Amino acid sequence: MGMTNTANNSFFESVQRNFDKAAQFTRFDQGILAQIKACNSILRVKFPVKIGDSIEVIEAYRVQHSHHKLPCKGGIRFSMEVDQEEVMALAALMTYKCAIVNVPFGGGKGGIKIDSRKYSAFELEKITRRYTSELCKKNFIGPGIDVPAPDYGTGAREMSWIVDTYSSLNPNNIDAQACVTGKPVSQGGVRGRTEATGLGVFFGVREACSFQDDMEKLGLTTGIAGKRVIVQGLGNVGYHAAKYFQEAGAKLVGLIEYNGAIYDENGLDVDQVQAHRQTTGGILNYPGAINFSNPAEGLEQACDILIPAALESVIHKDNADRIQAKIVGEAANGPLTSEADVILNNKGILVIPDIYLNAGGVTVSYFEWLKNLSHVRYGRLEKRFEENMYNELIDIIESTTGKRVSDLERKTILRGPDEIDLVHSGLEDTMIGSYREIRDIYKNREGVEDLRTAAFICAIDKIGVAYEELGIFP
Ligand code: GLU
Repeated sequence: MGMTNTANNSFFESVQRNFDKAAQFTRFDQGILAQIKACNSILRVKFPVKIGDSIEVIEAYRVQHSHHKLPCKGGIRFSMEVDQEEVMALAALMTYKCAIVNVPFGGGKGGIKIDSRKYSAFELEKITRRYTSELCKKNFIGPGIDVPAPDYGTGAREMSWIVDTYSSLNPNNIDAQACVTGKPVSQGGVRGRTEATGLGVFFGVREACSFQDDMEKLGLTTGIAGKRVIVQGLGNVGYHAAKYFQEAGAKLVGLIEYNGAIYDENGLDVDQVQAHRQTTGGILNYPGAINFSNPAEGLEQACDILIPAALESVIHKDNADRIQAKIVGEAANGPLTSEADVILNNKGILVIPDIYLNAGGVTVSYFEWLKNLSHVRYGRLEKRFEENMYNELIDIIESTTGKRVSDLERKTILRGPDEIDLVHSGLEDTMIGSYREIRDIYKNREGVEDLRTAAFICAIDKIGVAYEELGIFP
């Protein structure tokens, strides 16, 4: 599925359109709205990298959409679709995303225009390290300036190359580790970052499914158990989302990859499908499932919840009408074009927007950044103390009631938090709290007809106030 520059152009425009639609429900003057919308800084670099015996010129970007809070924050993607417009659109989404989940960063995004499958690990390392030194040269990276993270085509491995390159160029910066997030735990990463976006998607959809009146409108009951789910994209986000839905008792009826889709109304096991994919090179021909060699058809199958978790613009004006889901949870950034958005809203489908739903990644990135700046692992100080307090509490309960607590009960209660517990609970709390904020706007602000508009309003309200209080308009 190649995407042209025109498609990226309309991706950026569609973000701007969503912004404008929401802006009319806010009280800010045109100047402030224009400043919130504008991309503050754009870096485009072309640099040479020796690949095999020849030299390749690599095209790459970093866009800082908003400086209303620093550092800027957002992933780096490796993809052939990367161009300035796409990175601008994705950076803008990051600004709104951070505001919605109360992560005190401006939005940013980076992109390197390569097909990562075509390079060896060594070549990818050279490209990533050179890109990082370009960012350093231009002051486009640093713990207080701009903090990249994983995105499509990148992961912990690339982040470890970035932190190493940055640290070696900034040897006296004691906070150097905080220059990038999504690092391996051994390089200053935080436990729970890998699954964070997928888990956040799960928490967000679960929260949406907990409101009886909203579910009744869709002809659904509350809760996740028993709901039929289709997930598009088995990368880091889609895989973990699928896994959490499955563990919560949902039925994974469909899985979609870039080279084919499968459907089984009796439910699929995501780990078994992954194992099948590893041995056969794709998800097709999984025992008992129906095949779709055209992956797009997978999106149109019967389900309650559809989770697009790959790239942007996969649901568009030509297929939106055939979507059968009752809830679409945008795990990817920008999976619906604005035309598709209108069509799905008219069909009465509940669309849970990307700028809220996939914010779990950046939320846990924020926790990682805080960990790096504090130079201490979460839970290190309080774990033992809390265990001792619970122990004393149980002793008091036993002596005042004259009854003994069983060993199993004591063991369950007697557990101070580990890093992973704190990260997961911080993420859960964030996803629940932000959904309620958005739903509140959706229900109570006159004229607001969809959750995306409500989410944009939520973001604009917070950023608008920040700009007003900055007092930078003499
Ligand atoms: N790339 C992810 C996103 O689109 C995560 C960004 C981050 O952690 O900074 O939200």
